[in-house]
Amino acid sequence: MPVCWLNGAFVDEHEATVSIFDRGLLFGDGVYEVAAVLNGRLLDADRHLSRLTRSMHEIALPVMQSEAEWIEIMQSLATQNGVEEGLVYLQVTRGVAERDFPFPPAVTPTMFAYARRKRLSDDPNAGGVRLLTVPDIRWVRRDIKSTSLLAQVLSKQTARANGAFEALMHDDGVVTEGGASTIWIVRGGVLYTRPLSRDVLAGITRDVTLALAGEAGFVVRERAFTVAQAHAATECFLTSATSFVLPVTTIDETPIADGAPGAITRALRTAYFARGLSLTSR
Ligand code: PLP
Repeated sequence: MPVCWLNGAFVDEHEATVSIFDRGLLFGDGVYEVAAVLNGRLLDADRHLSRLTRSMHEIALPVMQSEAEWIEIMQSLATQNGVEEGLVYLQVTRGVAERDFPFPPAVTPTMFAYARRKRLSDDPNAGGVRLLTVPDIRWVRRDIKSTSLLAQVLSKQTARANGAFEALMHDDGVVTEGGASTIWIVRGGVLYTRPLSRDVLAGITRDVTLALAGEAGFVVRERAFTVAQAHAATECFLTSATSFVLPVTTIDETPIADGAPGAITRALRTAYFARGLSLTSR
């Protein structure tokens, strides 16, 4: 039976329950993280936990345990569940209280985490995926990794219903990000991704990819680009904790260049794996 972690104890996933009065359920009043597992080891867990701490601070959630304690729990979940390649998900909500919008006076956060297998080294989508452009209908604090994800649920559902892997969200034609990923394009040999602000989530994979691109000698500009520029790009890819660097070969009905993963994209995907494997090999 898969084991998860809930409020301080490892329990059978099927026996882990939370109250109908949990504010995560009632209001989406919570934050979360997803970290990859490679070689049975967490990848970049410290970076994910730093972002969790920031998200918690932004919505005034009290810190109940240290980042190191979280990492120990997450690693233990991967190990106990025999996950060699996959992910660990964690969530913190404001906790259980009578339904009222303002923060309850005294409430203990609900915390849980679980592990899942996912193919990372032989990702079936590595040959390239299709994006579908949709208006970005989210709130204005997209830098917080909030569990209020209805806009992304609807966007990604529209994408899937139209045969696309991921939504490409835009504000009035200017790309913000993917439904659960950071979007990059290559134009004139230069890599572009949107600069960090409240408009987008500060992707951990984005950060690592920026460093790898620099090490490989690629020129990167953190600059916003339009849907039209994405359609006309010579390469496009997305990054996320469990997709790493994933080629995008079609946007809407438009193939990107010749419709095959580009050379820079492939080089960065290879570099990402090499780094991941070296950090997680025991
Ligand atoms: N942008 C959004 C909206 C996301 O939900 C995610 C990941 O879930 C990302 C970007 C990529 O972030 P990371 O690379 O940390 O997984």
